[in-house]
Amino acid sequence: MIRSRFFFWSMNKRIVIAVDGHSACGKSTVSKDVAKELSLIYIDSGSMYRAVTLFCIRNDVNIEDHQQVAEALESINIQFSKTEKGQTILLNGEDVSDKIRTKEVNALVSQVAKISEVRSKLVEIQRSFAKTESIIMDGRDIGTVVFPDADVKFFLTAKLDIRTNRRYAEMQEKGIEGSLEFVQSNLQERDYIDSNRKDSPLKQADDALLIDNSELSQEDQLEYILNIIEKQIREDA
Ligand code: C5P
Repeated sequence: MIRSRFFFWSMNKRIVIAVDGHSACGKSTVSKDVAKELSLIYIDSGSMYRAVTLFCIRNDVNIEDHQQVAEALESINIQFSKTEKGQTILLNGEDVSDKIRTKEVNALVSQVAKISEVRSKLVEIQRSFAKTESIIMDGRDIGTVVFPDADVKFFLTAKLDIRTNRRYAEMQEKGIEGSLEFVQSNLQERDYIDSNRKDSPLKQADDALLIDNSELSQEDQLEYILNIIEKQIREDA
């Protein structure tokens, strides 16, 4: 009841919610749930970096050669589409939602995401989503670079062991190969590269709320986040 009242008056205003944080800390799960509760558009910015990586793998693009990657970007079109199975990502018209979650893409994506030409192209697309819709977007630089003026910002994290176990269980469920050791070292490596790159490193925005969800259930985290959003939007109204 309170929530629907709150959304009644925020209807006139487009809102942007930024969710950043470490790899596999449940950003996409909670962002999808928030989107559903509040009728927002959810954008998984990581899937866009993954789609560019898949394109490079398939087309033998040398990712060490940034000029080659920049040229490849000219042939890449990324779109999101809503289907019965939820939101899908299209790479040049092909649904690659599952193909971007493989071990090969996991191993390379942070190297591709370091490249400034890739970032500027994807950031431009990411910003375009907020021109017409209220959105919640998750990623690494959403609150710091993509939407520094976002209405509400969160920075999520959880203990490495917990993130590893959650991601491993998720992969097993989807039939994606990869040992527990690979999952853990890949998360560590990606967090390291993401946090130490020159362009748009992963870091908490000064005005983002830090949540360590190691000990939180999905339901409790969702409720907590919804309450914060409501409070913030009321204060700003
Ligand atoms: O969110 P996800 O784990 O799918 O993201 C995959 C990778 O994409 C990250 O490890 C990071 O290298 C990159 N990424 C990024 N900036 C974002 C979202 C993802 O650099 N906004």
